[in-house]
This record gives sequence, C-alpha cells and structure tokens, in this order.
Amino acid sequence: MKPGDAVKWSMRGSKGFKVVGRIAEYNGNGKAVVRANGTLHEVDVRLLRIIPSCAHCGKAFQTKDQRAKYCSRACYLAAKACPVCVHCGQRTRYSRAQYCSQRCSDAAQMAQTDREVFAALVAYKRAHDGISPRLTRLAKDALMHQQTVSAALKRLEQAGRIWIEGEPPYQVYGVVGGKWTYEP
Ligand SMILES: [Zn+2]
Ligand SMILES: [Zn+2]
Repeated sequence: MKPGDAVKWSMRGSKGFKVVGRIAEYNGNGKAVVRANGTLHEVDVRLLRIIPSCAHCGKAFQTKDQRAKYCSRACYLAAKACPVCVHCGQRTRYSRAQYCSQRCSDAAQMAQTDREVFAALVAYKRAHDGISPRLTRLAKDALMHQQTVSAALKRLEQAGRIWIEGEPPYQVYGVVGGKWTYEP
C-alpha cells in the first residue's frame, strides 16, 4: 500500500466495498489517509482493498482476476506495442517513448553525463602524462557547466572510478587503476 494506489473500502455499517478513492498518505501505522470525492478520510487499512491499476493507462479497474495487469484488451495490445525502458527494462507507456518515467530518464541522463566526464578526464590525462585537469578545463572539454561536472565527479568518486584530493578550486582528480606510463 502506497500513496497513489486506488482503493475501495466499506463505510461503517454498510455491506461490501462502496467507496472508491486513492491513498494520499500512508505511514505504516495502520491508518491511511484516503482521498475520495475530493475529501480526505482517515481509514483503518484493514477496511481497505487495493484496486489494481492498469499497467498501461494507469486507471484503476475492477477485476475478479487478481493477476490481471491491464484494464482492457486495448490496453494489453497497446502495451505490447510499446518499447521497454532503455534504463530499467520495464515497459513504457508510449509507442515512441525511450524511458518508462521521468526518474529513469533522469537516471539515464546522469549515467550518460558521468560517462562523458570520465571520458574527458581520461582523454586529458592521456594527452598530459597523467596530470589532473582543473575543473574549469574539464568542464570546457566535456562541454558542460562546472556544477554538472563537479556533481558527476562526486558520483564517480562514490562509485570508486576516480579519487579526488584537495579542496576546490585546487582539486586533483585521479583515475582508479589509471596508468600513464613512460615507454621509451
Ligand atoms: Zn488501461
Ligand atoms: Zn524505466
């Protein structure tokens, strides 16, 4: 159970699940805040049932088959025509989409940025006998803003690809496992 899930529940004294809404807040304490018809209700989670939502259009739908993923055959067919997310491998919702979500698009973009910064660092070191470039130079070489490069360098350091020594602006960047040897 998480915010955004469509749910139905029975009001006190009524039989069956009558009210349909969406979870607005749930902190695991047994009560969920549910929005139904524009009003917020605090509901005991034991009274709630999650309504599955279509893996393609996202609409909640009523079904007897608990394994059903799509609300309709149309959505099933439309989903089959959609490519899978380049980043996470889940199916996207649009036939020409590359990513399933903004989050995957951002993550992929970040990975791409990190690869480019790493490549620019290695290229500089190859051309300059292993000497570390300044941040300004690296940003120029990578055609990116300094803040972008700086953030990428931190991620690369966390990932164990590079090491960083000193404080800005006098930082030195090293490539883990890099060898810039002299071979006469
Ligand atoms: Zn659907
Ligand atoms: Zn994805």
